[in-house]
Amino acid sequence: MTADLPINKVSVVIPVYNEQESLPELIRRTTDACASLLIDYEILLVDDGSSDDSAEMLTAAAEAEGSHIIAVLLNRNYGQHSAIMAGFSHVSGDLIITLDADLQNPPEEIPRLVATAQEGYDVVGTVRQKRQDSWFRKMASRLINQLIQRTTGKAMGDYGCMLRAYRRHIIDAMLHCHERSTFIPILANIFARRAIEIPVHHAEREFGDSKYSLMRLINLMYDLVTCLTTTPLRMLSVIGSLIALAGFAFSLLLILLRLVFGPHWAADGVFMLFAVLFIFIGAQFVGMGLLGEYIGRIYNDVRARPRYFIQRVVSSSLPVPEKDNK
Ligand code: UDP
Ligand code: MG
Repeated sequence: MTADLPINKVSVVIPVYNEQESLPELIRRTTDACASLLIDYEILLVDDGSSDDSAEMLTAAAEAEGSHIIAVLLNRNYGQHSAIMAGFSHVSGDLIITLDADLQNPPEEIPRLVATAQEGYDVVGTVRQKRQDSWFRKMASRLINQLIQRTTGKAMGDYGCMLRAYRRHIIDAMLHCHERSTFIPILANIFARRAIEIPVHHAEREFGDSKYSLMRLINLMYDLVTCLTTTPLRMLSVIGSLIALAGFAFSLLLILLRLVFGPHWAADGVFMLFAVLFIFIGAQFVGMGLLGEYIGRIYNDVRARPRYFIQRVVSSSLPVPEKDNK
């Protein structure tokens, strides 16, 4: 199994957006945590188009002698998940760890993530203990996490926490996906054979504010849902068909009652108009449901995820190439 292979190098990927106050402490603590691993490591800091001094600080840190830091500078702000994907395209380790730059995820947890991955896991997720965020954020997260658990049946409790570890083949699989709006933990789980979640500490943000406004949070939530499933489009046809059926039945009832009780009961034709209206509304919903089904399929084709992902081919005859992805 690929997940049993030894880990010879660890890559840490950190997206940075206007985090100049946290950077010195982040770099110091992450380097200390990685050095304690006693295996080779690299720290990729991706500057997501910061307008403060973050980019300059990263460049200086990367240029320092003997530095394990690699600075990846993006030309503008693309968002946290795109920045992480940019980092993924430059990693060289066997195990890739992501974490936030604001020190809400303690870098000291890295050795535990590595140890857990070494037990043979493709993806190591984390659950934030005593999460230090606003009440609104915590409630919204809980609601969405429960929804995901119900739709996927997978027992992952905290998709929002970015302190995670992925084996190299999971990163390769994710880089093969061509969609623009990615939600990395969900995407990784699609390709994982063995995933596990461990509890980690969570700290309050010390410097600056959250980089997510309400609008960006809503956008992130939609990224998460659409990354996972096209079921909401399917719901359009299911609920639409139910409304259409009810509309047709109600219009038939109106026509029937009009024939039984006469034109006076039907307000001299007004109810007949309603009956016709219900029929048209029903037809509209059927049409929308049909459109939804097509859009769902178009969406799946457009993002062109690998149709399957072969982790490893085992054969007693000639050696077969490790991966062949269509
Ligand atoms: N971030 C980024 N680009 C963005 C927004 C955020 O690279 O457009 C980074 C940010 O620097 C931090 C991480 O993503 O390292 C998480 O952001 P933040 O702490 O603001 O999110 P929250 O903890 O509130 O979810
Ligand atoms: Mg944060």
